[in-house]
Amino acid sequence: MSAAVSVHRPDPFALSPEERQIRDTVREFAQRELAPTVAQRDEEERYDRSLFERMASLGLTGLPYPEEFGGAGMGTFAWILACEEIAAADMGMAISLSVHILAQLPILVFGSAEQKQRFLPPMMAGRHLGAFALTEPGAGSDAAALALLAERTDGGYALSGSKIWITNGQESEVTIVFATVDRSRGRDAITAFVVERETPGFRVAGHERKMGIRDSVSAELVFERALVPEANRLGEEGDGLKVALSALGAGRISIAAACVGLARSAMEHAGRYALQRTQFGRAIADQEMIQAMLADAATRVEASRLLTWRAARIRDAGGPINAPSSMAKMFASDTAMQVTTDAVQIYGGAGYSRDNPVERLMRDAKGAQIYEGTNQIHRLIVAQQLLEALRRG
Ligand SMILES: Cc1cc2nc3c(=O)[nH]c(=O)nc-3n(C[C@H](O)[C@H](O)[C@H](O)COP(=O)(O)OP(=O)(O)OC[C@H]3O[C@@H](n4cnc5c(N)ncnc54)[C@H](O)[C@@H]3O)c2cc1C
Repeated sequence: MSAAVSVHRPDPFALSPEERQIRDTVREFAQRELAPTVAQRDEEERYDRSLFERMASLGLTGLPYPEEFGGAGMGTFAWILACEEIAAADMGMAISLSVHILAQLPILVFGSAEQKQRFLPPMMAGRHLGAFALTEPGAGSDAAALALLAERTDGGYALSGSKIWITNGQESEVTIVFATVDRSRGRDAITAFVVERETPGFRVAGHERKMGIRDSVSAELVFERALVPEANRLGEEGDGLKVALSALGAGRISIAAACVGLARSAMEHAGRYALQRTQFGRAIADQEMIQAMLADAATRVEASRLLTWRAARIRDAGGPINAPSSMAKMFASDTAMQVTTDAVQIYGGAGYSRDNPVERLMRDAKGAQIYEGTNQIHRLIVAQQLLEALRRG
């Protein structure tokens, strides 16, 4: 659609040749390596680590981050272009990779020089998988209510408690874990740790049986006086919430990008189906009510992409991304839900069948309205920022 507009005047949002190359390379990879098996992996609820390794060989596992630590040094915008393409083929792998990228950020921003050297190169090279463990049975939207306790011991901390819904947690070598050093001190006591797989007292207790993105795993992690050395604490005691929120602010831009890819894929499936399905003697694509759904889908996908690109550009320029990333995440995930629901409608009965892709895409979309902050919480963030600006006058 944007190509048609640009016939008459240059598109001010056009990608540079380098950006187009990144997008096209990842698109070609994702369609060739991920798309053919995604339905089967979803059916089997199976995470395929070898696909993560394939993404690593393409430089995707450290794409936005500095070359100094083995990253590709390409920044947020290039990363979200890649993320849209991976999600257009496979939302589960896009979310898994997005969490892996997210898990590196606290180390990059808050880690000591020694921690960066120790943890980042194997993560960026894709030898170590990352996870980010904030959510607990009693602390979801209200992350500051977390109860996982970190008690001081000789040379470190003993962690006791559990985390749930941890993407990649089943086999991550590196997990960023948020705990409290004093439950009576609320958010001021929250502290971030890097927990390594072989930590004594740390184990995976099971995983969720999910509705969607079933080719990625959401694990329950248990800590039974798990001994974490002081050298694995990120920042100071009490810095934890700041560490978590700054990483999530950036991470949700990639969730938005993934939702754009997912919605685009559903729209294209539905459009192609509408062109070939005939009823009442003509293609259903000729019915105005079908066209209205496709037009709304195209418009929402484009609007979601623009919000996402804007948030990514602001982040690359070092600007504040709190509201822009919340707007992008909530709008793009609501778009993915709407567009995939309409795609099922356009397919009719065939859309309700697990033999067709739009059924899976609709299940995949729902989670994005929930993880990395529910869309209700993002609406609160956006409203607060708006009202503060109005109060200031
Ligand atoms: C597929 C998937 C992957 C995930 N991956 C991870 C991960 O890797 N790491 C991790 O730490 N967590 C992860 N999560 C957890 C996710 O971040 C939480 O589910 C999310 O933050 C919501 O918390 P909750 O489920 O406890 O819901 P709750 O906080 O209990 O919310 C329940 C409902 O109440 C609403 N609500 C709550 N408070 C308010 C309010 N103040 N105003 C209005 N409405 C409100 C919510 O929007 C929601 O609709 C994942 C979740 C899913 C589904």
